[in-house]
Amino acid sequence: MIDFSLTDDQLQMMEAVDRYLSHRLPPSEVLRRDATHTPPYDLLPELGDLGILGIPFNPEHGGLGENWMTLALVQERMARHAYFAASIVSRVVAFGGMSLMTYGSEEQRAKYLPELIGGRALFALALSEPQAGSDATGITTRAERVDGGWHIIGRKTWISDADRATHLVLPARTEKGATGSRGVSVFLVPRHSAGINMTTLNKVGNHCMPSYDVGLDDVFVSDDAMLGTEGDGFKHILSTLHFSRSSMAAAATGCAQSVVEMALAHAKERIQFGKPLFANQVIRHRLADMQMRVDQSRLSVYHLAWMLSEGMDCKRQAAQAKIIATETLQFVTDHGMQILASAGYSMDSPMQRIWRDARLYSYGEGSNEIQRELVSREL
Ligand SMILES: Cc1cc2nc3c(=O)[nH]c(=O)nc-3n(C[C@H](O)[C@H](O)[C@H](O)COP(=O)(O)OP(=O)(O)OC[C@H]3O[C@@H](n4cnc5c(N)ncnc54)[C@H](O)[C@@H]3O)c2cc1C
Repeated sequence: MIDFSLTDDQLQMMEAVDRYLSHRLPPSEVLRRDATHTPPYDLLPELGDLGILGIPFNPEHGGLGENWMTLALVQERMARHAYFAASIVSRVVAFGGMSLMTYGSEEQRAKYLPELIGGRALFALALSEPQAGSDATGITTRAERVDGGWHIIGRKTWISDADRATHLVLPARTEKGATGSRGVSVFLVPRHSAGINMTTLNKVGNHCMPSYDVGLDDVFVSDDAMLGTEGDGFKHILSTLHFSRSSMAAAATGCAQSVVEMALAHAKERIQFGKPLFANQVIRHRLADMQMRVDQSRLSVYHLAWMLSEGMDCKRQAAQAKIIATETLQFVTDHGMQILASAGYSMDSPMQRIWRDARLYSYGEGSNEIQRELVSREL
C-alpha cells in the first residue's frame, strides 16, 4: 500500500517554516521586497540556523541527513509565503551543495559545504552564454592552462545571484578545438577574482533574484578550483539538474496552492449582481480546475522526491515534475488574474507579482520544450 502520511519531524519542520516566514516575510514585506528589488540574502544565515539549507546533507558536513521528500515539503511550504524564499534554498542546495556532493572532492566538500549549509556562502551556476541558452553545449567560454592554474576568457549571461555569490560554478572549454559536450570542465571561480565584470539585467519579474551579465577577462583560477574531472564538465552539470528541477517543482506547487487560496478567498468575498463571485458555476469550476491541477502537480513532486530519496534514476520524472508544476503555476495565475480582475492587476496585489514571476519558470532551468524532449527520449 502507498503511504501518503508525513512523519512528525516533517510536520514540525513545516510548522517551523510557517512560524518563521509569517513573521519574517509577511505579505507586505514580500511586496516591499519585490518593489525595491531586495533579494533574500539576509535570510540565508537564519535559514542556516533553522537547518533548512542542510536538509539533504550528512550531519558530518553540518546537514540534517533528511531525505528529498522533507526538502520538497519544506520548499512547497516556503513558496506559499514567497517563491523567492524557496528558490534561494534551491540554488544553495542544488547549485551549491549537490554540485559538491555529486562531483566535488572530499577537500572541497569539507571546505565549502558547512559554509553553504550555514548560509555563509552562495554559489551561482554560470552556464548560459549569449549564444548558448537551451543548447548549453554551444558554450565558447574557454579556460587556458597557465602556470599553477587556468585563465578563463568569455562571457556568461542571465546568471542569478552572480554579484552576491561567493563563487561561480562555471563550465568552460578546456580542450582546444572540442565542440558540443566534449572538452568542458567546471570551475569554482571566486566572485571577486580579478578580470570579472558584471552588469545587472532588467527584467519583468523575479525582482528578488537579480540576474547579471558576467564578463570574464583573463580570470586566473588555481588548479584546485576545478570541480570534478577535467573534460567531464557536461556530465557533471547534467548529473545535478534533477535536484534543481525537483526543488523548482516543489516551490512552483506551493506557490500555485497560495494562488488558489487567494482566488478562492476573493471569489467568496467579492459581491457582484448581489451575490459572491463563487455563486457562479463558471467561477467555481475554474477554481476546481485550478485545485485539481495543483494536486496533480503535488503528486508528481512527491513521487520525484521519493525516487530521489531512494537513489533511483529519475531523469524523466524530474523533467515531468518541472513541466507539470511550472505549467500549473502559469495556469492558476492566469485564472487567478481573471477571477481577481482589477483587484489582481493592482501593483499592491500579490497576484500580479506571482503572475509576472511565473512566466519565467517554463523556460528557466531548461525550457519545457527541452524537458519534453528529455521525457520523449526516456519513453
Ligand atoms: C531570470 C532568469 C534567470 C536565469 N538564471 C540563470 C542562471 O542562474 N544560470 C544560468 O546558467 N542560466 C540562467 N538563465 C538562463 C536560462 O537557463 C535560459 O534562459 C534558458 O536555458 C533558455 O535559453 P534562452 O533564453 O537563450 O532561449 P533559447 O534557447 O533561445 O530558446 C528560445 C525558445 O526556443 C525553444 N527551443 C530552443 N531549442 C529548441 C528545440 N530544439 N526544440 C524545441 N524548442 C526549442 C526554447 O524552449 C524557447 O522556448 C536565466 C534566465 C532568466 C531569464
